[in-house]
Formats: sequence, C-alpha cells, structure tokens
Amino acid sequence: MENRDAPLGQVQAKIARACKIARREVDGVTLIAVSKTHPAERIEPLLGQGQRVFGENRVQEAQGKWPVLREAYPDVELHLIGRLQSNKADDAVELFDSIHSLDRPSLLKALAKAMDKAGRRVPCFIQVNIGEEEQKGGCAIADLPHLIGQARDADIPLAGLMCIPPFDIEPAPFFALLDRLASDHGLAGRSMGMSGDYETAIMLGTTHVRVGTALFGKRV
Ligand SMILES: *Cc1c(COP(=O)(O)O)cnc(C)c1O
Repeated sequence: MENRDAPLGQVQAKIARACKIARREVDGVTLIAVSKTHPAERIEPLLGQGQRVFGENRVQEAQGKWPVLREAYPDVELHLIGRLQSNKADDAVELFDSIHSLDRPSLLKALAKAMDKAGRRVPCFIQVNIGEEEQKGGCAIADLPHLIGQARDADIPLAGLMCIPPFDIEPAPFFALLDRLASDHGLAGRSMGMSGDYETAIMLGTTHVRVGTALFGKRV
C-alpha cells in the first residue's frame, strides 16, 4: 500500500511556502480538499491527519458520503464547489457550510427561500465566468454588480467570488482579475486555485484553494 500521509503534508508545505513568498499569513488560505468521486475509505485518512475542510461537486454524492463521516468528525466543514440546480437548493442548504457556485438570479431566489425555510444562512461565493467562455457556468462579469445587489437584498451572506479559469491558458491574469473584482465589491473571499495552480492563486490573493488530484490522486 502506498503511503497516503505524504500528499497532504506536501500540499500544506507548498501552501506555506507560497504564503511566505507572498508575505501572507498561512491562516489566510483555507485548503479545501476536493473529495468528489472518492469513497469514504479514501477520505478517512485525511480526516485522521487533521484535515477538516472538504469540497464536493454533487449534492447527491455528498448526501451519500458525508452524514456518516460527520458523525465521527462533527467539526467537518463541507463546501459545495459544483454547479447547483435550483431544485436541489433545499438539500444543499441543509448539508453544506458554504456554496461556491451561486451564479444566476433563479438560483439566488431558490437559495434565499431554502435558507429562510431552514433558518440557516449559508455563506455563498458568486461564481464568475472569468474567461467569458460560452459554455461555462458562472455569472458574466457585466452582471456581477446586479447579482451582488440581489444577494445583499435577499440577505444571503456573501463570502466572496469564485472562478475556474479557462483550461490550458496561463491562469494568473484571470486570478488577478477575480481578485480585483472582489476588492471592487468589498468582498473578502476568493475561491481560486486547483491542483495545478494553487500556488499561483496564493500569490494573487486567494483565500480558498480547491485541491483534489494533488491530495487524492487521479479521479477514476
Ligand atoms: C474537481 C474540482 C476541483 C479540484 O480539481 P483538481 O485539479 O483535481 O485539484 C476544483 N474546483 C472545482 C470546481 C472542481 O470541480
């Protein structure tokens, strides 16, 4: 059996090094371990090593894995990082501690209703279509001020902005742009940076990195 202790320590060390170079506090960067597609047996070792913040991209998959794991580790913090359908808003609000994929008015309305119903306000990141890609989820940059205003009116706590830069292009300019947009709107959080580019994202001000492959290996 391979040694699975190593990846978490390596990622943490790289985060610490990037923070040091950027003259940032390591506490200012939250590592979200993206456990999508991986079964509970693969997640437990990380829990055993003290990792408590995890990300999933599907509500249904998370519902199948996390209630049991949470009984053993009640202090787990669960982030929804994938596209959310409005009809799953109730389930998402019930299960997740943070939602990174708020990107349109219809979903905003569904989430506000779900939060009212549950009596629980779940902090949300607005996902921005930072590369203005036709097929990609995320709010258009031009629509961002309006969506932020709607979220504030609906009393949805805004954690910050999230982006997935275009594939196969240098991501740094897109990270810098998201950082700028968040600053412009007075939002503290930035959810950007994945296995291939989280150190770059740290240099450019991210507060939440979403790392899957570097921790769990390739998804099957
Ligand atoms: C899967 C996923 C990640 C993690 O990607 P890796 O390259 O495996 O680190 C991050 N963010 C989102 C939105 C994802 O869907």
